[in-house]
Amino acid sequence: MTGDRAIARLADLVRQGKPAVVLTGAGMSTASGIADFRSPGGIWSRYTPVTIQEFLASDDARRRYWEYKRETYAQFAGARPNPGHAALARLEEKGFVTAILTQNIDGLHQDAGSRRVIELHGTDRAVICLGCARRYDRAAIQERLIAGDAVPRCAACDGFLKPATISFGQALPEEALAEAVALAGGCRCLLAVGSSLVVHPAAALPLVAKRAGAALAILNREPTPVDVHADAILRDDVSAALPALAAALLR
Ligand code: ZN
Repeated sequence: MTGDRAIARLADLVRQGKPAVVLTGAGMSTASGIADFRSPGGIWSRYTPVTIQEFLASDDARRRYWEYKRETYAQFAGARPNPGHAALARLEEKGFVTAILTQNIDGLHQDAGSRRVIELHGTDRAVICLGCARRYDRAAIQERLIAGDAVPRCAACDGFLKPATISFGQALPEEALAEAVALAGGCRCLLAVGSSLVVHPAAALPLVAKRAGAALAILNREPTPVDVHADAILRDDVSAALPALAAALLR
């Protein structure tokens, strides 16, 4: 479904099941100029992902990892929330949304004013020392990369620095994951936005909600493997559809 009828259907589900839990993925940020790294021609087609094990084991892997991070952060640093982010923040403020579970590491939900954001894959806004857990500002580390410090180390303990994102082979943040599962299992409506719903745990959360009796709505450009379980599906642009949804709910 597309168009006004689909928006009305989505609005009904959120109204009946409010406050909804919203799950967001890469499609949430494409209108902010952040490319989906997994898409053809995306950054992942030019860089081989570095696992946490490789990062810890080899200076060459650390160098390649930071080259990749330097390029992606340059995109993040200039990005601003789009009207979809703003709509979700407004829906939270008005009691229609209780929390956002996001696969994104760009921090744009917080920039838009969303208060309860659970970052399933961590955040690229901070850098953490793997030795002593000291945190660094990401922008300051970017300056060091640009100045030629290809593999930045901790000033306190000389440990390896790494953005506070979850790498391949690295465990998801337990606390965030537990909170996400509790929210999905306790809500009456889960709205999945801009996620292909193939990467775990995002792929499983809609089913957690569904099994607990919640309504499931999916807003995504492309079909997802979870569509078969959805009560409403909307194939539309996130940055257009979410403001339309907010307008329908808040009028
Ligand atoms: Zn340290």
